[in-house]
Amino acid sequence: MDITDTSHVANGLEMDIIKTEVSRVSSVDFNNIPFGKIFSDHMFMVDYKDGKWLHPQIRPYGNLEMSPAISALHYGQAIFEGLKAYRREDGRILVFRPLDNFNRMNRSAERMCMPDFPEDLFMGALDTLLSLDKDWVPSAEGCSLYIRPVMFATTAEIKVKSAEEYKFVILTCPVGPYYPEPVRVLIQQKFTRACEGGVGYAKAAGNYGAALYPAKLAQDKGYHQLIWTDAKEHKYIEESGTMNIVFRLGDTLVTPPLDFNTILPGITRDSVLTLARSRGIQIEERSVTVDEIVDACKSGLLLEAFGAGTAATIAHIEVIGYNGTDYQLPEVTDQSFSSILLDELTSLRIGKKEDPYGWVYEI
Ligand SMILES: *Cc1c(COP(=O)(O)O)cnc(C)c1O
Repeated sequence: MDITDTSHVANGLEMDIIKTEVSRVSSVDFNNIPFGKIFSDHMFMVDYKDGKWLHPQIRPYGNLEMSPAISALHYGQAIFEGLKAYRREDGRILVFRPLDNFNRMNRSAERMCMPDFPEDLFMGALDTLLSLDKDWVPSAEGCSLYIRPVMFATTAEIKVKSAEEYKFVILTCPVGPYYPEPVRVLIQQKFTRACEGGVGYAKAAGNYGAALYPAKLAQDKGYHQLIWTDAKEHKYIEESGTMNIVFRLGDTLVTPPLDFNTILPGITRDSVLTLARSRGIQIEERSVTVDEIVDACKSGLLLEAFGAGTAATIAHIEVIGYNGTDYQLPEVTDQSFSSILLDELTSLRIGKKEDPYGWVYEI
């Protein structure tokens, strides 16, 4: 493979670009894309060594060769992000709130004792990678290009300590809807995802491995996802799977606060709350007890519940399971707050509606 191009990126670093010989894009059935299994032609990669990020490059998507002793595998110094690019009607490519993801990645890095990533390198990598693979951004409704930055420790040393070497990679994959149907969720009464003082607020790889077993137990019982509760008492609601959770009690939207650092500060959560506020919808970011939600299910005060996250965008919840009882929520209609907010969010992201917030970034 030849270096076919170099493009100047900031940070005084030249980025090498090695292009694929034949694009795989024509072999993809864009009407039927499994989530996260099909990767675009290229990926971005850069290494951290001796205190510096070195040799950024874009090259064909493919395997990496490395030592089985790398500390990410043994001790879990690994973090990631998830964001999406959309195709506007006129073909232009828009990325939704990339700087927010960038900033969150660095907050995760700090918590996991990993190096800061430079903003201009991140944005330069996104620009170049997405320009190169722009044909991979789907145009069908509900589809997008999922962007997955990941950083992990690559020092080959069997010792629990912060590594000296890291790799930062950006992969992209075209995706369709994550949950095509409303979901059934189970309130967790035994296991926990995060505790105060822990790493719940970081998109750290280990958080997700640790969540698989309780999620599997719930799936075996016919639920799609869990609703996590606090680690001390299982009394307060935190979030749902890999989504933040929002309840509509009467005409007020209620969602757990970020104050305890146990929930992931979602960008979709923030977007939904911002859009709701601008419509004059009452918002409460406050602690929500399981009892309050169960009572609201029984009394009919709970009109809606939904998960908010980049992968699923807004996932309507149809059933909440607790203590052996399934509580059925009212059916979602076009007038549901979640439908209205989803619609508005979608219009912004695909550039159908003017963006007054500076959220969309054009490639
Ligand atoms: C990524 C994630 C979310 C959603 O965050 P977004 O920025 O909206 O994608 C919520 N909870 C968890 C645990 C997550 O990992």
